[in-house]
Amino acid sequence: MAEDVDRAAVRARVSRVHIVGAGIAGLAAAVALARQGVAATLYEAGPAAGGRCRSYFDRGLGCRIDNGNHLLLSGNHAAMAYLDTIGARSTLGGPGVARFPFVDLASGERWTVAPDAGRIPWWILRPGRRVPGTGLRDYLALLALRRIGADSTVAEAFGTAGVLYQRLLEPLAVAALNTPPAEALARLLRAVLMDTLMQGGRACIPSFPREGLSASFVDPALAWLEPRGGRLLTGCRVAALRTEERRVTALETADGAVAVNAGEAVVMAAPPWVASGLLPGLIAPEQFQAIVNLHFRLDAEPGETGFVGVLGGVAEWVFVKPGVVSVTISAANRIVDLPAEELAARVWPDVRAALGVGEAMPAVRVVKERRATFAATAAQERRRPGVRWPAETGGPRNLVLAGDWTSTGLPGTIEGATRSGTAAAAAVVAGDRA
Ligand SMILES: Cc1cc2nc3c(=O)[nH]c(=O)nc-3n(C[C@H](O)[C@H](O)[C@H](O)COP(=O)(O)OP(=O)(O)OC[C@H]3O[C@@H](n4cnc5c(N)ncnc54)[C@H](O)[C@@H]3O)c2cc1C
Repeated sequence: MAEDVDRAAVRARVSRVHIVGAGIAGLAAAVALARQGVAATLYEAGPAAGGRCRSYFDRGLGCRIDNGNHLLLSGNHAAMAYLDTIGARSTLGGPGVARFPFVDLASGERWTVAPDAGRIPWWILRPGRRVPGTGLRDYLALLALRRIGADSTVAEAFGTAGVLYQRLLEPLAVAALNTPPAEALARLLRAVLMDTLMQGGRACIPSFPREGLSASFVDPALAWLEPRGGRLLTGCRVAALRTEERRVTALETADGAVAVNAGEAVVMAAPPWVASGLLPGLIAPEQFQAIVNLHFRLDAEPGETGFVGVLGGVAEWVFVKPGVVSVTISAANRIVDLPAEELAARVWPDVRAALGVGEAMPAVRVVKERRATFAATAAQERRRPGVRWPAETGGPRNLVLAGDWTSTGLPGTIEGATRSGTAAAAAVVAGDRA
């Protein structure tokens, strides 16, 4: 009953919300608003929702693929809460325990990092669970995380010479921050590790969509939103915002203007290069890093975890899914301009060695996401605006921002995007700002 009264009070303040962009941030905002009884309309420029986290049918491969492998950890609490709300947590698969298998292609060594479930890291004392060639003292270096300087890079914070760095911290940092460690901001890695590895194995159980990104993160959200008044308009690019007296009064689309009436609000959940075009004066990240994924059409043995980290090759993470083996290469600006055939020829030997599969290269699709995430550098971090931009520059009162590029304290991840969407919804519900 109390909730109904609160919902009525919220609805009296905010009657509908217009969300520009139906990526994870926009969807998370719509879900958080619907939980409070506020319906949203999502305007999506693309043919489907999902943004940088989507699945589609690939005619060349004859199957549905994801734009790229996405891994979640159990310590990604906002993302897990989002999945719980839309009833989709069970669509994730994975080993169910904290296990990270690696292969070093140069030496042929294989090992599995297996943190204990609890917070006391007994695993670092057990050679079968820790990184081979490391000892207790190497792990004590992780305590340096608490003291890192505001602008220190990952490479500066940990030094690049140690075995622990080369065999665990560097691969984790590149995957989580999508930025070369010599440039990547150590405090963003700290934020990820504090929520996951530093909480013990229970917080770093890896999981990924069993069927595909859209089946986990997008379709269940849309199905959950629909009976709660949520609407998705695809192929609907917002080209401009009309404002009067510090309020957005209309969204301009190719199909005409959509009025933003009194009591309605706007969540700008488009990527930063679009948001800064629509909102003059917005300072937002302007440098990005690519992620390259290669999807090979073949059946392989998934092993205990369904993925393996690869050192000493071009491939970085290899995921085994039904009928497809997908390879991720992050911080990929250095290779993104290479022709697809060359990338496939370079990566296929890594897949063969990592999985022990046959010689002939199967059909492959190379997916290049050139602006996969903002570059997680000190300079870009300073450009990340808060949800309530731009209080100080007199921006529209009925508009808030969302997206992995806003100042979430995390790198560009599903967790960051979800948190930003939830924060944007809370800001909308709190009402217009001064
Ligand atoms: C290949 C790849 C691998 C990744 N791997 C991981 C991973 O393993 N783990 C992890 O946590 N994260 C990963 N990420 C990051 C994660 O995908 C992103 O952080 C997240 O999807 C960003 O969501 P978003 O809603 O902030 O932005 P977006 O997904 O970019 O959503 C913005 C939406 O706005 C739409 N739009 C743009 N312009 C307009 C307009 N004018 N009008 C209307 N709509 C518009 C876009 O089409 C898009 O749908 C990966 C990203 C990529 C690309």
